[in-house]
Order: sequence, then structure tokens, then C-alpha cells
Amino acid sequence: MKNRNVKFAVVGVAVVAAGFARLSQPSVVAAPNSQSAAKSTGVKKEKIVKVVRTEAQWKKLLTAAQFDVLRQEGTERAFTGDYHPRKETGVYNCAACGLSLYRSETQFDSGTGWPSFWKPIAGHVQETTDADGSRTEVKCARCDGHLGHVFTDGPKPTGLRYCMNAVAMKFVADKKTPAKK
Ligand SMILES: [Zn+2]
Repeated sequence: MKNRNVKFAVVGVAVVAAGFARLSQPSVVAAPNSQSAAKSTGVKKEKIVKVVRTEAQWKKLLTAAQFDVLRQEGTERAFTGDYHPRKETGVYNCAACGLSLYRSETQFDSGTGWPSFWKPIAGHVQETTDADGSRTEVKCARCDGHLGHVFTDGPKPTGLRYCMNAVAMKFVADKKTPAKK
């Protein structure tokens, strides 16, 4: 008899605890399924928080040449930008939002007059097929700024050629620490 009472008490506590858990649950926001933006292959589990600005705001922040490429999908004239591969190592960042896009080690001289890379930093660029299906556009994954296009005539190991507009990026050498003003 005594034993059964103890059992009942334990069950009672468990029921109360379960009830409490149920009551307190609505205050916890369920994690949304954030897989929609991710591609199925080669995506790092790094979360990129989008930078969203109006076109008017971008116009103030960017130079006319940067705005033309990044926000209006323009293309700079070949051989006019900073397209040569460098001797120093570093990273090419988005000129609009600063997200790192390409490592200098992946740059090569394609002879096109545009800075060319065989691999972006994983997850930091978005690739979408142009409306007519002829080309694949490359955008910054954080601000959606237009960077250039990717083609399949690149060198090993990927065979890809990310043909970028130099004006859409800013190079930061490895040894220099980013200015902290
Ligand atoms: Zn960006």
C-alpha cells in the first residue's frame, strides 16, 4: 500500500512537470527551417545575414562605377580594372558590404581583362542562371550585389572561371589588419 502511494506521487510529479513543460513551450520560438536559401552542395554552415538597402542608399554609399556594376548589373570595360593576379596573398571583399568573396590563391590570369578566379569562398556568392539560360550570374551572398558571371572554361581543379568586375571588389592583403577607426 505504502509502495503504491509512492509510485502515484512520482507519476503525479511527472504529470505536473510535463504540464509545466507544455505550458512554457509557447514562449520558446521554434527555430525556423532556414534551409531554403542554402544550396544542396558544398555549403558551409555559416549563416550570412543579408544586408538590405534601398537603391537610393546604395547610390550614396557606392561610386558611380560601383553602383553601375553592383546594383545595375553593368560590366566594366575589360582591362580597365585591377585584374592582375597578385604576388601578395589576401582576400577580395565585396565593395558594397565587405563580405569576403575570393582568396587571392584562387585567382588566375584568364587573359580576359577581368579578375578571374577558379573558386569562391564557400557560401559567400550566389549563382543564378540568367533569364535566357545562357550565362550564370554571380552575386554577393550578403547584399545581392552583382559581381560577374561564372563559366565552365576555367583551370583545374574546378574547371570554373569566375569572371568578376574588379570595381565590385576590394582587395585586402593578409598582413594588413583591417583599419579599425
Ligand atoms: Zn556584398
